[in-house]
Amino acid sequence: MVAKNIIGIYKSGSTHWVGDGFHVRNLFPSNDLDEQISPFLLLDYAGPSFFPPSTQSHGVGEHPHRGFETVTIVYQGSVAHRDSAGNRGVIGPGDVQWMTAASGIVHEEMHEKAFAQHGGMMEMVQLWVNLPKEHKMSSPRYQTILDSDIPRVALADESGTLRIIAGKFSEKSGPAKTFTPINLYDVRLKAGRSTAVLFPRGTTTAIFLLKGSITLNGTQSLHEAQSALFDLEGEHISITANEEAALLILNGEPIKEPIARYGPFVMNTREEIVAATRDYQAGKMGHL
Ligand code: MN
Repeated sequence: MVAKNIIGIYKSGSTHWVGDGFHVRNLFPSNDLDEQISPFLLLDYAGPSFFPPSTQSHGVGEHPHRGFETVTIVYQGSVAHRDSAGNRGVIGPGDVQWMTAASGIVHEEMHEKAFAQHGGMMEMVQLWVNLPKEHKMSSPRYQTILDSDIPRVALADESGTLRIIAGKFSEKSGPAKTFTPINLYDVRLKAGRSTAVLFPRGTTTAIFLLKGSITLNGTQSLHEAQSALFDLEGEHISITANEEAALLILNGEPIKEPIARYGPFVMNTREEIVAATRDYQAGKMGHL
């Protein structure tokens, strides 16, 4: 089996606040990873940040999206969602929200009320997944995926656990419905232990490390809040935890279509971006 070579290791390319609730480190696209990372568009790592008890609501208020999906994975804290398609949900540690904006929604992402009142640590990842042209104007969809819905695989030699959010691992399948083939794993590795993953040639693969330190393919180390991007060639990646580690593994089939992006809209052409802005302003993506 041929190893997948690492083509780059990246730390946060920019840091910013999303609303007043999420202090994020952006891994891509701010590292100039655009088509190389397809079908993924963005990875923001929020926190870990401590929020003192507050009677005010923190987060990001009403804003639109069109043309892709937002995937929110909560590690600490609690996030409440509300959108113009009528969906509501609260996700906490271990839970995932997979929201398909497609033709357009307006939503808000807030610290959940009881969490805000008690205060605490907020830590989450938001990943944007592109949609192929044929689904960019499909109806919006909303999947709340609770921790209890996510299969947990015990890795060989008691090296750790792998949760399958989307795709397959060792004959088991994750719950997320996706439009193109995607594997998304939340992995915990014990100190000193190793594991390996296998993906088809021609697919995009990245590893984002939230905690600890790991060595990839026996040669390159990855530290906290760094991501590694792999070559499309090769199939095999070995991962050794130098200390207890938490990582997210992303894999997907590239969408080989032009990307036109402007803020919360990701389409194929400039004209479609103009139309998205116009439709949002005309209220066609709805209201909360
Ligand atoms: Mn949003």
